[in-house]
Amino acid sequence: MNLMDVNTLFSTDAKCRELLTRLRFPEGPRCLRCKGPVVELETEKHLFYCKDCDYQFSVTAGTVFNDSHLSLATWFAATLLLCEAKKGMSACQIQRTLGIGGYKTAWYLCHRIRHAMAQTDKPLLDGTVELDATYVGGVNKGKGRIARVDNKEVVLGIRKRNGDLRFFHASDAKAGTLAKFIRENISEDVDVIMTDDASANPVAVKKAGHKNHKTIKHSSGVYVMGDVHTNTVESAFSLLKRGIMGTWHRLSAKHLAAYLEEMEFRFNRRNRPDLFLDTLRHMVTAPVLTFQKLTA
Ligand SMILES: [Zn+2]
Repeated sequence: MNLMDVNTLFSTDAKCRELLTRLRFPEGPRCLRCKGPVVELETEKHLFYCKDCDYQFSVTAGTVFNDSHLSLATWFAATLLLCEAKKGMSACQIQRTLGIGGYKTAWYLCHRIRHAMAQTDKPLLDGTVELDATYVGGVNKGKGRIARVDNKEVVLGIRKRNGDLRFFHASDAKAGTLAKFIRENISEDVDVIMTDDASANPVAVKKAGHKNHKTIKHSSGVYVMGDVHTNTVESAFSLLKRGIMGTWHRLSAKHLAAYLEEMEFRFNRRNRPDLFLDTLRHMVTAPVLTFQKLTA
């Protein structure tokens, strides 16, 4: 699916609504309250009506589309753009490309798509799993060759080789914090956990109850030793950093986690031909994200 396809296939609200109905109700529309049968009303908004509980609702009720004044065609185009941009796309760019009235509207739109992308199952990772931390944002004010990290944000990456990626915004990269993320994301049956030789890593792996741990000595300038390396998680970091460099001036630490969810969602589906449809499926099943909650 490319932008031309989306513009052709989903040029009107009616066409968009039809797809959203199929994605939200694969077995046919049911009442949101009582799950009973509904009829489609011949109204402008094509509301569904449940006779049993006298309830009317639209296909986008109670989802991230809720209360939006933008056309569904605009939503669809924005979704396609966010799916196709490997490094992400700034709200500013979306605003200009789609001719959206205000920056705030475009910003809120992007966050709602991101919010939907965050609603995914995250099964525990097994096999060979790489774990690494990186630092993003902030400004290096001091002189000298050693980069300051105290004003930067910590991002943890955990990736199954040839498999899924997880990104997290962490408070720090200390052993206790790493151990918590290992327990929450790596299966007890994992074959081996690969990290670099930062001193927190062996403590964290042990703390999380794992024995199979291999390290690569980045401190000595060694990056690959046989099958021991953390290159696949680092390739995900480099994509993230190229994305962040372009948008960081608009990206606060507060919203970093949401941005990481977007990157992770897209990365884990990068070879899927149904990425666009899968994103819309998430959007029409994810709960409402109010502007108030987003900016609280
Ligand atoms: Zn009902």
